[in-house]
Amino acid sequence: MCYAGFTMSAIIIDGRKTREAHTGELIAKVKALPCIPKLAIIQVGDRSDSTSYIRAKKLFAAKIGVEVVHELFAETITQTEILKHIEMLNDDESIHGIIVQLPLPGHIDRTKVIDTIAPEKDVDALTTTSIGSWTKGKGIMPATARGVRELLRFYGIEILGKKVTVVGRSDLVGRPIAVMCQNAGAHVTVCHSQTTDLISGTKDADILIVAVGKPGLITAKHVNGDQVVIDVGISRIGEEKLVGDVDFESVSQIVKAISPVPGGVGAMTVLALFENLIDLCR
Ligand code: NAP
Repeated sequence: MCYAGFTMSAIIIDGRKTREAHTGELIAKVKALPCIPKLAIIQVGDRSDSTSYIRAKKLFAAKIGVEVVHELFAETITQTEILKHIEMLNDDESIHGIIVQLPLPGHIDRTKVIDTIAPEKDVDALTTTSIGSWTKGKGIMPATARGVRELLRFYGIEILGKKVTVVGRSDLVGRPIAVMCQNAGAHVTVCHSQTTDLISGTKDADILIVAVGKPGLITAKHVNGDQVVIDVGISRIGEEKLVGDVDFESVSQIVKAISPVPGGVGAMTVLALFENLIDLCR
């Protein structure tokens, strides 16, 4: 098989194709709602990566009939001003979901800002209240974890009873993915920056999910031939090129199935975010 110029044996776990397959269903769900869902996205500063993630969300929202209000604030905005603004959005009945695009500038306390979002509008499921819920398998979960779950489901990859290794343990990505897998009945191993023997953590897994942000971290020596590899990492090389954490060229020669970057989890994260919004609207 040939994919993006690589000759390989692995099945490609295609996030764009999976998202496309779910889009019609999402449009129907939006049409069935009593009002048009409206998402507010707060961006502080003009980081180009944040801007491009927001652009992708706006494009998909337009496709499925969801309204997005994108509010861009100068990097110099004070924490008090942001908190006040979030409180205003909390009180605005026409807004169903609020996202604060991360990362925030250093002078702003991320936890304080996130925890100001009303839990019933917390579409990223990042407030302390939401974390308490999804940890117990209730309510919506962070979009990346939901996206990974749907990607695996679409390809008929069972999590129940499987050995899953998650590399990365951030509140935003690694930890929710690990909790999602655990709640789905997997035996989960979590590796992180203090893991002394990464290879023994990754090589034995049935499903390896990598969410670090270090291109080339996972190579042929970290994987086995029966493994499914999900690459969540996104790093920008130069102006245009996006790469994951997995060395696609070598790993795709060995494993059973692999998700590429771009075209893997990223597409599913956008889909899952709007599934979360629809769930909040109901
Ligand atoms: P983060 O907050 O920087 O967390 C990185 C995690 O990787 C940490 O848990 C860290 O361990 C661990 N780590 C660092 N170096 C390591 C190493 N050498 N070996 C093993 N683990 C190591 O980043 P994040 O927000 O979780 O994002 C991770 C990646 O996912 C980034 O590339 C980001 O762009 C991408 N992302 C993708 C999507 C998507 O939709 N595909 C969505 C969001 C984020 P410690 O906890 O010990 O520091």
